[in-house]
Amino acid sequence: MRVWDVRLKTESPMVLVRRRTSAGFAAPLRYIPSTTLRGAVITALYREGVFDRQRIERESKTPELVASPAYPFRGGLRLFPAPPFLQRCKRCEVIVGYTNLRDLEEVLRSGKEPEIAVECQSGHRALKAIHPGDFVQIRREGVLELPDGGQKEKKDVDVLQSISVAISKGRGSGVRGLLYSYEALSPGNEYWATIAAPDDVEFPAGGLVLRIGRGASRGFGRVSLTVAGKRPMDGVDVDGYVLFYALSPTVGDGGGTYPRSIDLGSLAGRVGMVSSGVVRIERVYGRTAWMSGGWDMARGVYRPRVLSRVHGSLLYGRIEAVNADCSAGLAALSSVGVLTQVGESVLAGFNLLVPVGVLDSAS
Ligand SMILES: [Zn+2]
Repeated sequence: MRVWDVRLKTESPMVLVRRRTSAGFAAPLRYIPSTTLRGAVITALYREGVFDRQRIERESKTPELVASPAYPFRGGLRLFPAPPFLQRCKRCEVIVGYTNLRDLEEVLRSGKEPEIAVECQSGHRALKAIHPGDFVQIRREGVLELPDGGQKEKKDVDVLQSISVAISKGRGSGVRGLLYSYEALSPGNEYWATIAAPDDVEFPAGGLVLRIGRGASRGFGRVSLTVAGKRPMDGVDVDGYVLFYALSPTVGDGGGTYPRSIDLGSLAGRVGMVSSGVVRIERVYGRTAWMSGGWDMARGVYRPRVLSRVHGSLLYGRIEAVNADCSAGLAALSSVGVLTQVGESVLAGFNLLVPVGVLDSAS
């Protein structure tokens, strides 16, 4: 198993939406979900001849290639969905709350519950929660900042708006009543993601061209993928109680929204590494939402939607058997996550959990 650090760049407008309205598509997603990215990468590898039909069926039943969601990459920094307990002052555009994840970890370690800020340093009470829709940058010591110094205008991704009319194939002219508008992510947006793949998967030297979102036949959603480097699979040094950041949505067994117990030994074993230790999640903070399980390529059906904790949620738990080496298991947890069986499907791209101490926008 190798974990690749990849960069994505939109080469044409990308229409990735939360909802379809009667007059078009609204509210573009500002990130690419893990299931969408995984499907696009596997499809591109098939087109390039790296994967054959059998490999795609195997990936459908027992996933080996796992993509993280793709989040904005701006000014050389990786942005992350905002965790809970953060609010933005509508007047001075600063973030208030637990702007240091290490401080929050200390609060939890002392057995207390985190508090919600009610005003900013200047006493303004017009605060807006920013979890998980806004992006933050994270410094190695766990300090959270708004990108671009917290300007009023969101700068994480560029959005363009357009009005279009459906064209009748028969008459070659506009169809009445089919005027629609859409919001699309502009060409030139950059994203970062990780892709964990078996050792035998080689990405083409020139990168891959992915098709993401709606309107691919009309040239929309062309995204270039380049490999920026390999992510080390070690060096995660934690003990006892740990605060995890959910890089992806989480889902548990039997309708739960997060995994309660994670066996690091079997997780590392899946990717050919040796580890020990068990993570027991005791507290979870984050919004709950129904998330798409993605498209099942081999069976040609959408996987069921699952009740999840959204990306950016925080999970607090304890690592048992701390004396033994659990760094390989924690590295696998950060990039591969915990695969979860939902109905007939195995979901990949969920439960990617990263100890907050190793989050770093700069690396
Ligand atoms: Zn203020």
